[in-house]
Amino acid sequence: MFITDIKYYRYGTPLKKPFKTSLRTVEVIESIYVFIETNVDGFVGVGEAVPTYVITGDTKGGIEAAIEEVFKPLLINKPLSKDLLQEIHEIIVGNTSAKAAIDMALYDLLAQDAELPLYKYLNHNPGNKSLETCYTVSLNEADEMVADALRYVREGYNHLKIKVGKDNVETDLNRLKALRNALPTKVILSADANQAWDEESAHYALKHFDEANLNIESIEQPVNRYEYSLLGELARGYHIPVMADESLFSPYDANQLIETGADKLWNIKLMKSGGIFQALKIHAIAKSHNVSCMVGCMMETHVSVTAALHFSLAADQVERVDFDAPLMVLQREVQGGIQYDKAKVFLSEGNGLGIDRAYLYKKVSS
Ligand SMILES: [Mg+2]
Repeated sequence: MFITDIKYYRYGTPLKKPFKTSLRTVEVIESIYVFIETNVDGFVGVGEAVPTYVITGDTKGGIEAAIEEVFKPLLINKPLSKDLLQEIHEIIVGNTSAKAAIDMALYDLLAQDAELPLYKYLNHNPGNKSLETCYTVSLNEADEMVADALRYVREGYNHLKIKVGKDNVETDLNRLKALRNALPTKVILSADANQAWDEESAHYALKHFDEANLNIESIEQPVNRYEYSLLGELARGYHIPVMADESLFSPYDANQLIETGADKLWNIKLMKSGGIFQALKIHAIAKSHNVSCMVGCMMETHVSVTAALHFSLAADQVERVDFDAPLMVLQREVQGGIQYDKAKVFLSEGNGLGIDRAYLYKKVSS
């Protein structure tokens, strides 16, 4: 089987409510859907990239340029093979979102060719894992956050991720206290600062999280992504488990985190790793050091989050997922792939990603 063309289309999926973190506000998920075509009739692989430039540096134009200038010349007329998964990382640095889209489309083809759902192609003995997604509460005034949180709990989400870090730490603590007081005790709360704090604020925040008995199960990325030794110091210095997110793009970063002691919890995302092939390498490091992993997503839709779910089901260290972005869309535009039953996530039948590729193509190309 030969690759004959790569097509890509921009497509915007509106959200029910603006999504706010300490870094940005999103109203529409802006995806670039990728289709790798082959000389075999009906054999197409699909992928998705999103331009999270505040985290990955990737823009819509940049993603398209990487496909047009680098991946098309590399892949067109090549026979489909696993070797291509490595080659897309060797040919260009950075550009992890474009790489992720190409990587998942190649995996979609490889697994279809093997007549297996992707997670079984990745792991022939995947076990029987049942995963629930957490749901993120956007950063707003405390009252609005409490109202949102109560609604999500009523809708069946048992783990809420609270965005913090926009104002001072006291304001965050007050928001968390208001949430903790308003919510049933069985609801798990975790916090995500998205790199917001400097050294002093981070120590202050973690100390107070420990003392306030808020029962926050983890704090994600309290400091800047490059502050590896500080992240390790925070992870070792407090009871509250620290999760690395923006500090973890590559296997190189994973080794840095092991060295500095930020080795309890990692958040793996395909848009950071550049797809499943590199995510598996990060996962292998996690496994050898017994790091518990979450798989998360950017503001992505059902295509790339389906790829992330296949990876999660295949990877032993993945014990939790944060796949809420597709739940925030006004209307689902993708058929097949990831399915939700309240917080529970599972896959539709089908080989490869299991997404209805023709339906997606028709939707986004017209
Ligand atoms: Mg995060």
